[in-house]
Amino acid sequence: MNLSSKLPHIGTTIFTVMSKLATDCGAMNLSQGFPNFDASPRLMELVSYYLRHGFNQYAPMAGVPALREAIAQKTSDLYGVSYHPDTEVTVVSGATEALYAAITAVVHPGDEVLLFEPCYDSYAPAVELNGGVPVYVTLSPLSARGYRIDWAVAKSKISAKTKLIILNTPHNPTGVTLTRADLDALAELVRGTDIVLIGDEVYEHIIFDGRAHHSLLTHTELRERSFVCGSFGKTFHVTGWKIGYCLAPAALTTEFRKIHQWLTFSTITPIQYALADFLKEPQNYLDVPNFYQQKRDTFLSYLQHSRFSYTPAEGSFFQTASYKTITDEPDYDLAIRLTHEIGVASIPVSVFYHQRDDHRILRFCFAKDDDTLRRAAERLCAL
Ligand code: PMP
Ligand code: GLN
Repeated sequence: MNLSSKLPHIGTTIFTVMSKLATDCGAMNLSQGFPNFDASPRLMELVSYYLRHGFNQYAPMAGVPALREAIAQKTSDLYGVSYHPDTEVTVVSGATEALYAAITAVVHPGDEVLLFEPCYDSYAPAVELNGGVPVYVTLSPLSARGYRIDWAVAKSKISAKTKLIILNTPHNPTGVTLTRADLDALAELVRGTDIVLIGDEVYEHIIFDGRAHHSLLTHTELRERSFVCGSFGKTFHVTGWKIGYCLAPAALTTEFRKIHQWLTFSTITPIQYALADFLKEPQNYLDVPNFYQQKRDTFLSYLQHSRFSYTPAEGSFFQTASYKTITDEPDYDLAIRLTHEIGVASIPVSVFYHQRDDHRILRFCFAKDDDTLRRAAERLCAL
């Protein structure tokens, strides 16, 4: 059979490749972003309660009302903005689904989508599957602004065909965060156009050193044209549950749900009820930044004795580090070799660039227990 691939240039995602290799080698897995510790026992009890009490059939397509209300409440408490649970909040099967549905809702064949690379690997394929064309603004650690966005460059990439801009803050893989000035520059860029925005904000609660999370929601002008995606997997240490949400004004949500209803229709019911209860205790998400800051600091306190160089992550649970003074190997080769030879798996940052720009940087996930962080760092320090 001659099957014509819709994504001929795409292989298996790096997260699957590296996690499998880590398992095969018995290595410590600091590659794919997931915690190696469990969620709150209270959250487990709540899920177990709803599993055992008959909450096991299809949830409403947009999500269980109690959870949509809890998400709207959290959004209002944190960002002072009001999203209507019935028409502007949708529960999805992970942020990956939210991103795909939002992209599919707005991108027509030939539309251009501005991506800031390095970027999360699901964006470009989702754009391409919809006939869209990714247009890249490349952020280089070597440029004067480092991984920060040069808005003049972004402006130069906007055309009459630009339909969508995708932003990610806190950022995977670099750990940088957007500032209020970035949001203002973005507002200037899109003012007077029909450009839609997606805010990939799955790490909204994983942000350090007292920084505020500058959500697209916090900017009046931007909010009106934005889909904002969140992930409970990240916030509550349950990446395997694949549950998240999308906030967007009613007109955008209407289009979003047209896609969501044919992708997954709805999301696992007992977990939705459990999360609705769990969100009623704000400390459950307010404690997350300190929890992860301690992890980042622990990891970096060990890594400071290494030959890696790095700028501490401002957010996310990833730390990037340059190994230029250690070896000149390509980052992909090094990530593979370190998994085999020292039992530490990481992600080569070049995979997040469409032309595989290799700045000799690896990404380490520090969502690990302290003992794993110490043992992994000891091996990295020996390089
Ligand atoms: N966006 C970014 C930047 C991510 O790192 C991830 C990682 N999982 C996702 C989206 C997808 O989130 P989810 O697991 O909820 O689908
Ligand atoms: N977001 C995770 C990471 O960046 C991976 C998610 C996935 O494996 N799809 O590592």
